[in-house]
Amino acid sequence: MKSNEIRAKFLNFFQSKEHKIVPSAPLVLKDDPTLMFSNSGMTQFKDYFLGYQTPVSNRIADTQKCLRVSGKHNDLDDVGKDTYHHTMFEMLGNWSFGDYFKKEAIEWSWELLTKEFGISKDNIYVTIFEGDASENLERDQEAYDFWKEHISEDRILNGNKNDNFWEMGEQGPCGPCSEIHVDIRSAEEKAQVDGKSLVNMDHPQVIEIWNLVFMEFNRKANGSLEKLPQQHVDTGMGFERLCMVLQGKTSNYDTDVFTDLIAELESISNKKYGSSQPIDMAIRVVVDHVRAVAFAIADGQLPSNNGAGYVIRRILRRAISYGYRNLGMNEPFIHKLIPVLAKQMGEAFPELPKQQKLINDVIFEEERSFLRTIEQGLVRLDNLISNSEGKVLSGAAVFELYDTFGFPPDLSRIIAEEKGFSIDEKGYEEEMAKQKKRSQKASATATSDWVVVDANASESFVGYDRTDGEVNITRYRKVENNKGEFYQIVLDQTPFYAESGGQIGDSGFLIAGDEKVEVLDTKKENNLIIHITKDLPEVKEGLTAKVNVKRRNDIMKNHSATHLLHQALRTVLGEHVQQKGSFVGPDYLRFDFSHFSKLTEEELKHVNDFVNNKIKEHLDLIEDRAMAFNDAIDAGAIALFGEKYGDVVRMIKFGDSVELCGGTHVVNTSDIYLFQIVSESSSAAGIRRIEAITGDKALAYFKNFEQQFRQVEDKLGKPKDVLASLEKLQYENDALKKEIENYKLQEVKNQKQVWKNQAQTYGDVNAILIKTSMDNALIKDIVFQLKAEIDNLFIVVANSFKDKPTISVGMSDNVVKEKSWNAGNLVREWAKEIKGGGGGQPDFATAGGKDVNGLSKVLELAKELLD
Ligand code: ATP
Ligand code: MG
Repeated sequence: MKSNEIRAKFLNFFQSKEHKIVPSAPLVLKDDPTLMFSNSGMTQFKDYFLGYQTPVSNRIADTQKCLRVSGKHNDLDDVGKDTYHHTMFEMLGNWSFGDYFKKEAIEWSWELLTKEFGISKDNIYVTIFEGDASENLERDQEAYDFWKEHISEDRILNGNKNDNFWEMGEQGPCGPCSEIHVDIRSAEEKAQVDGKSLVNMDHPQVIEIWNLVFMEFNRKANGSLEKLPQQHVDTGMGFERLCMVLQGKTSNYDTDVFTDLIAELESISNKKYGSSQPIDMAIRVVVDHVRAVAFAIADGQLPSNNGAGYVIRRILRRAISYGYRNLGMNEPFIHKLIPVLAKQMGEAFPELPKQQKLINDVIFEEERSFLRTIEQGLVRLDNLISNSEGKVLSGAAVFELYDTFGFPPDLSRIIAEEKGFSIDEKGYEEEMAKQKKRSQKASATATSDWVVVDANASESFVGYDRTDGEVNITRYRKVENNKGEFYQIVLDQTPFYAESGGQIGDSGFLIAGDEKVEVLDTKKENNLIIHITKDLPEVKEGLTAKVNVKRRNDIMKNHSATHLLHQALRTVLGEHVQQKGSFVGPDYLRFDFSHFSKLTEEELKHVNDFVNNKIKEHLDLIEDRAMAFNDAIDAGAIALFGEKYGDVVRMIKFGDSVELCGGTHVVNTSDIYLFQIVSESSSAAGIRRIEAITGDKALAYFKNFEQQFRQVEDKLGKPKDVLASLEKLQYENDALKKEIENYKLQEVKNQKQVWKNQAQTYGDVNAILIKTSMDNALIKDIVFQLKAEIDNLFIVVANSFKDKPTISVGMSDNVVKEKSWNAGNLVREWAKEIKGGGGGQPDFATAGGKDVNGLSKVLELAKELLD
């Protein structure tokens, strides 16, 4: 069975059990301060478990793109070494939110694996939670009894709290879990070692494929457990591992999820998978990592220098350095795998083929620049090795190579070893620890517990309709970070817009009687709207909230203009234009989009005019706050890759511009008043960036231009035609320059004749000693012309021009040779007389100084030399 069929079969099976099939959430998370990437199927349902949101259905199934490369779940170091951990993988899952529980979860997993997929029950082991005395938790007898109906009891194994009690975090929903393990060893191996003894022992062919979590407890802040009012099921099955089992393979990389990628890489690199351990590992690393990176880019996360972008960059760099080291790839090659990947996974994940060119360009550019880093690092490392006294390289120096120049430390290690050196690992670790400490310090935040004022209050946003109103504080907490101490306040009905979708958060005030507390910013945490203040209002009820309206209006102009700009770009440049990030603030807007070349003047003008025309068309805002997602798409709305949309969305329409958007907007495009692009640049490979202004800012921009123009006009004497007058000035200027040139030529000619007449012979040398006052540039010209005209020439020019003394010395080549004189040396010596210095070639040299009185002495010295 092909992997695509396996995925479909899983989803169909749970659909037949009345589950709603939902799309995978984006790989990259927004608005979750505790997590950068989806790392399990349940990530996108966290709010359901926490009770912040009501589930769209109480039975859900899906396949979720997961990434386990940072934080609590980090498998990165294992990837490539083993054959069943990936950075990015798909987790198939089914959920019950307060609906079915252990019985059905167990029954259906069994039915699917053994009946639908036909896995022999003799290859399956399951685990159940054995209980934990310290927590006063009993053995999960219930699960045991349900399993017993399907599988022989000697295949039901006990597991401890570590493996079989699952918790979402320090607090919150948790419960026992039951894992399903599959033994895919050969019959002989099975006969030798009992599979039971290999479960959970990191054996590559006795592996966990599915975890069924039964959420029935809530972990309270004081650490105690209480029974949840409702019980939930959360399951996760590794798709690639399932494919391995069903396709009769012993490694995930031998399944059709990877074989096409491996074949392509074999042909690109001219290396065979299966030929040696280092080659195999590098091939596994590359075909694994390219998936993680491609999916992240498709979801809008470009490699960068910080946060989630840095994690992605590191994954890609790990692949590049394995390719470089083990496969001999010193030219970009990973991007060449993208077409195969897009073809392979495009059906289930259309974001890949749709953005294939962008993904290719971004990866190519990263590869190119990192390979350059490697080459430069190799030179630095060579220097380090040749300058090192002993046979141990300093840990600090190797760390610097990594930290400052991005050169991978394991590459340093290997190359050092090849040359008979080792690295002071302890020193390296110390530097690493120091650096960690520094960055922890910079980002350290202390967040205290929420103080709940009203536990029953709900929290909602009313800022689409009004910018002020009476509010109550429902909870607050104190936060301390490197910027100081702040309060985070949650309100029951807030008019403050929380930063999201590129739009900056509102600021304003919370007022109660004489007390006025400033809201500095508004942010989102999952679905909670948090108001950030310096002070905590004394009064918690019946406050007046007031958004800074002027600021909000400016923001709205920029947000609506962003939509029109998006439409303009797609109209002028084409439908390949995808929004790749935006910033909408009160002063300007920034819009990043996929496009592959610099916009021409003409295109920019087109785009600018398009937006201004939409402003002039007085288009009314048509807003639908609760539209079915599919209806909105049918109405032409653009959904962005990497955004998570629910079934019900908000649609914003101005004429033919239709977008799904949660931001605040003007009620009519004419409110934007004026739009002006102020810059167009590249923001990353394949991504262009436009910055623009609207309203008062745009008006001020043109006013400023006008003012400057008036000043120019004034300077020109207010001519009728400013341009013609300027052109005339330029023409005159050019003519004058030419005249000066001619004059100089004449001057050179005249002076040359004067100097020639002063030539005297000293033995076989024709010497010219001159004291003058003229432009230095001319002197060099004359000297070289004289050298061509007079044999055996020796010339010294002592010049004083604008009170600055200079000396020029020139001589024919045979004088240099026969007399062993050197103009450079002479000039250096004589420069002392004018309190200066200089140098040059043996046949011509110059010096400058401070003291014009020394010039006569210079000529005397020259004469002495000749005598
Ligand atoms: P393991 O012990 O093998 O690392 P886990 O306990 O971390 O697995 P869970 O967090 O329970 O796994 O995730 C559920 C399922 O997801 C696992 O049963 C497995 O099939 C799959 N899985 C987990 N981590 C990975 C990974 N890095 N690559 C591929 N599949 C994975
Ligand atoms: Mg794990």
